[in-house]
Amino acid sequence: MKPIQSALKSWMQTNENFKENYTKIRQEVLDDPEIKEFISLHPQLTQSEINKSLIKLYEYKTQSKQCNQCGSFRACKNMLPGYSPILQVESNEIRLTYEKCHSRIMHEKEQEQQKLFQSLYMPKEILQASLSDIANDETRIQAIAELLDFLDQAKTELPRKGLYFYGQFGVGKTYLLGALANELKKFNISSTLIYMPEFVREIKSSFKDDSFNDKIDLFKKADVLMLDDIGAELQSAWFRDEILGSVLQYRMMERLPVFFTSNYDLDQLEMQLAATKSGVETVKAGRIIERIKQVSKEVKIEGHNRRL
Ligand code: ADP
Ligand code: MG
Repeated sequence: MKPIQSALKSWMQTNENFKENYTKIRQEVLDDPEIKEFISLHPQLTQSEINKSLIKLYEYKTQSKQCNQCGSFRACKNMLPGYSPILQVESNEIRLTYEKCHSRIMHEKEQEQQKLFQSLYMPKEILQASLSDIANDETRIQAIAELLDFLDQAKTELPRKGLYFYGQFGVGKTYLLGALANELKKFNISSTLIYMPEFVREIKSSFKDDSFNDKIDLFKKADVLMLDDIGAELQSAWFRDEILGSVLQYRMMERLPVFFTSNYDLDQLEMQLAATKSGVETVKAGRIIERIKQVSKEVKIEGHNRRL
C-alpha cells in the first residue's frame, strides 16, 4: 500500500502546487497594468473567455512590446525575435498576434541597403569607409568637393559623369570610393566596386560559362560603377576592346556614371592600354580614353602614403 499512498500524496502535492501556481500567475496576469487596460477597454469579454485565454494573456505580458525591453534586434528577447505581440478582440474572443517591431524593420532595411553596395574583393576597411572620416582632410579638398557635388546631384538625379581619381599609391583613392558607395546607399543608389586586376581574371575565368553575361550585365547596369586601379591589370587587347570598351560604351549611351582610381593620369593610362601583346595600339587605346572622359571627370589626388 505504501507506494500507492506515497504516489497519491506526491500527486496531491504537485496538484496543490499547480493550483497555487495557477492562482498566482492568474493574479499576476490580471494585475498587469496593460492587461487591465485591455480588459477594461473590452467590457464584452466574459470571465470564462478571460480564463480560457489566460495563457495568451500571460504570453503577452512576458514579451517585450515594441522593443521596450531589448536594446536592438540582435538582443531581442521575444519568442519570435523581432516580433512584437498585439492583443485584439474578435467575435468576443481574445486573439494574440505578432507584428514586426521597429528594430526588425530597421534591421531589414539595413540589410537591403547592404545589398546596394556590391563589391568584389575589397578589404573590410574600404567597405566600412565613411565620408565623415574624410570630410576634414585638407590635402584632398578638390576631390572631396567633387564627391559632395556628385552626392548632392544624386539626391535628385544620377549625374552622367563620375570621377577619375589618380595619384600615388596609398593616398586614399579607393577609400574615397568606398565612402561614396556607403553614402549612395542612403539614397538607394547601387554601386559596384571592383579591383581591375580581379575584373580581368573574373571575366576570363567565366568566359563561355553561364555566368558570363550576368557578370557583364552587372557592370553595365549598376547605377554607379567603380573601377579600382585601372591600368594595374594585365593588359589584353580582347579585354580592353570587347569587355571594358563595351561596358563603357553602354554606360556612355545610357548616361550612367563610372568612377575610377588609378596610379596613372589619362595620358599615361592611354600608353598603358596601348601596350598589349599585339603591339602598340594607340587608336584602340585612344578610343577607351575617350569613353572614360565621357563617363568621368579627371581629378588628381595628392597627399602622403597612408599605408606607411
Ligand atoms: P589608394 O587606393 O590611393 O592606394 P587606399 O584608399 O587603399 O589608397 O588607402 C590607403 C590606406 O589608408 C588604407 O588602409 C585606407 O583604409 C586608409 N585610408 C585612406 N583614407 C583614409 C581616411 N580618410 N581615413 C582613414 N583611413 C584612410
Ligand atoms: Mg587603391
